[in-house]
Amino acid sequence: MRKLLLVAAGLAAALAVSAQEDRQADSLRHAFGRQKLPSSNRKSTPYADTLDTGNTAVKVVLYNNGTYRYVKDPAKVVEDSVFTANWDTKAVNPYRMEPDQLPDRFSIWVVDTLDSFCCPYQTQPRSHFGYRHGRRHQGIDLPYPTGTPVHAAFDGKVRISDYVGGYGNLVVIRHANGLETFYGHLSRRDVQSGDWVNAGEIIGLGGSTGRSTGPHLHFETRYKGAAFDPSWLIDFEKGTLRHRLLKVRSWYFNPNQRYVQSVDDEDEIFRTDEEDRIAAEEKAKKEAAARAAAEAAAIRYHTVRSGDTLSGIARKYHTSVRQLCRLNGIKETTILRVGQRLRVH
Ligand SMILES: [Zn+2]
Repeated sequence: MRKLLLVAAGLAAALAVSAQEDRQADSLRHAFGRQKLPSSNRKSTPYADTLDTGNTAVKVVLYNNGTYRYVKDPAKVVEDSVFTANWDTKAVNPYRMEPDQLPDRFSIWVVDTLDSFCCPYQTQPRSHFGYRHGRRHQGIDLPYPTGTPVHAAFDGKVRISDYVGGYGNLVVIRHANGLETFYGHLSRRDVQSGDWVNAGEIIGLGGSTGRSTGPHLHFETRYKGAAFDPSWLIDFEKGTLRHRLLKVRSWYFNPNQRYVQSVDDEDEIFRTDEEDRIAAEEKAKKEAAARAAAEAAAIRYHTVRSGDTLSGIARKYHTSVRQLCRLNGIKETTILRVGQRLRVH
């Protein structure tokens, strides 16, 4: 919502375009000129304006068609510690950390705008996350004809571009949110470690190098070195991102834990502790109300005391003399006995 407001404010500002803003847009266009803008709508849509954000490394670029995108200045973004700490251009997992050191639940902002995502390849995955023939499979396999372009899923900095054992030609990209994406078995690598890439940029061509039985893209998603099923994040069949805010549970890093489709995964699987507490309270309230209603509807008796009359009892129990007579098979003229039990409801 804050982002929308920011953009709304920006749009108002965009109405008053000054020469200075034009120059600003020009210099930004120049700064990003060397980067490929892969998404087709971005290619055909010229910039309308650029706006500053609270973060000096990030600008909002407004397009003439009314869409916007957050653009990071690579020169500034790469200064962020996420791109310097545990930075290794050789080691597949440079984090000296066990997955169980990760918190039970945490959230990762996946993209600023959906334009900052590109499905590496839209297809039905062939081999899923988890153990396969007794061997741990840390990613997902996407059938892919050799020579097909492989696209970076998100903006980021190339950490590894190398031939790495079973992976064959491997590209690993680290993203500003700490996620890393792996692209294995490539026939050709088009980026070098240290390169900044935008989502959708071609980083190489699909192939079958390394331990591979046929052309496919081996795609992994990792956080601090721990792999989780990429299907938590991406629907490869639809080519879409499942969540802009990925709520991660520690059990995702269990090598046997595959993505599970749930009709209400937003409500159930991704529910926060606070939401769980509220839901539990609401359930308790409903149960209490149901119990009260059941009690109200339950059969109740009154034991006649000295001085009781049918009309007095009817008043006490919010019923009628006629109803009392019907329930107890008596007449209005029946004499009540002390100690007699009368059904009142
Ligand atoms: Zn694989």
